[in-house]
Amino acid sequence: MTLKGRTARPKREWLRPGPIAFAISVDALSIPAWAFGTSRDRPILKDDPARMTARILIIDDVPANTRLLEAKLSAEYYQVASGRDGFEALRLAREWQPDLILLDVMMPGMDGFECCRQLKESAATLHIPVVMVTALGEPLERLRGLEAGADDFLTKPVEYDTLMARVRSLVRLKRLLDEWRARGETVRALGLSADHVRVPSVAGARALVIDDWDPSAQAIQDALTRDGIVTTRARGADEAMTVSASQSFDLIVLNLAMSGEDPLKLTSSLRAADATREVPMLLIAEREERERLLRGFDLGANDWLVLPLDANELRARSRNQIRRKFYHDRLRDDLGQALEMALTDPLTGLYNQRYLLRHLRGLLTASPDREVALLMLDVDHFKQVNDDYGHAAGDRALRVIAETLRANTRVFDSIARYGGEEFVVVMPGSNPDEAVAAAERLRSAVEAMTFVPEAGRLCRLSVSIGVACGGTGTETPEALLRGADVALYAAKRAGRNRVELAAGR
Ligand SMILES: [Mg+2]
Repeated sequence: MTLKGRTARPKREWLRPGPIAFAISVDALSIPAWAFGTSRDRPILKDDPARMTARILIIDDVPANTRLLEAKLSAEYYQVASGRDGFEALRLAREWQPDLILLDVMMPGMDGFECCRQLKESAATLHIPVVMVTALGEPLERLRGLEAGADDFLTKPVEYDTLMARVRSLVRLKRLLDEWRARGETVRALGLSADHVRVPSVAGARALVIDDWDPSAQAIQDALTRDGIVTTRARGADEAMTVSASQSFDLIVLNLAMSGEDPLKLTSSLRAADATREVPMLLIAEREERERLLRGFDLGANDWLVLPLDANELRARSRNQIRRKFYHDRLRDDLGQALEMALTDPLTGLYNQRYLLRHLRGLLTASPDREVALLMLDVDHFKQVNDDYGHAAGDRALRVIAETLRANTRVFDSIARYGGEEFVVVMPGSNPDEAVAAAERLRSAVEAMTFVPEAGRLCRLSVSIGVACGGTGTETPEALLRGADVALYAAKRAGRNRVELAAGR
């Protein structure tokens, strides 16, 4: 069995905290609109009537079937469109961008399997859930549909409460993916790779199997292991919550037939917990327990299977759920990259000016009476480094200085590259004495550095630092920066490699 798939998994911590060590909430930063991409293909405003209900596309070659489903779904306030064959399905899916497709299997020209495969191969439609609707109840047919990438299977005649439960669940999931997709558009705008189409292998994915009965747990684990999925078993709710809090999973399989537990309560606990909020959940139950399955679906489960288990169907459904999770993770990862690019300086990995101004404004507004110090540093005679050793050496010098600044500041100080060879350190809660002492520490750390611009050469670097302090409730970021800049200029004039404190405080 290979574990290689693990290394290819998108990282969980998608937003690197950078030089400051507290977690950054996306909302708190108020990222500029462009960072999330504003060119969504359709409006998403809440009061936009076009988006108030989900769009469902029905494809069936028999008009009577289409009309029946259309009537049922319209009565539930869904927007419905329909088509008669696979070609119309592909066109309408691309142009109308439904939230769900109900796809007939037996159709002339292109059958449902082929149509589903093409939908799942196109970047424009692969995120749209597909439910295949068929008169054939054959396990083999269901399997073919699942292998073509179908998200679910319904048998004709369609049971409406089952249909509605599936529709609600799939639409909910689709909405979540839409959010990430919209944000991921930035990535394409920034020209980063956005190759989402490749279907990733599920080998190495991790599944948590929750089942108190040994034989069924073993059967589930054996089936998943055949696809290279690494399984962990939990015998009850407590164990499931403990294990899932300490390890990350790509799939949860939960047997509703557990005795002495309330599996539905566990379903909602898993949905509520941070660690498992977004992990796909597959429920298993007796055929007679359909009511509980439907309830589990409304609590956030993603798919279900009824006993006796068909191992192949379990595998196909598990693969689909895991692939969708990988797709979701990948979108999130891309967003992390886009954010990082929007907020950091690529050369040094420090924050950029855009972040700095926002952060400073936030600090000054959030607690106007709290002291904050700002250090502006400029590398002395930097032009000389570039002239003597070339720009590559100059870039390396900036990186080395950035490292030195990082190593000599507190975790809650923020460091930004402010301009060419200018850096700014923001020190929340520091008074002028502390700020000057910190500046002096940074100055001597840079002076003590050994920088090797080229083999056999040693170059001494130094910085001049201007310090300004705020916290009287009147300072703006611009005023603080101006104060530090004036002090920096004084330090330069007084002979460089020194620290000056701005007048007035
Ligand atoms: Mg048909």
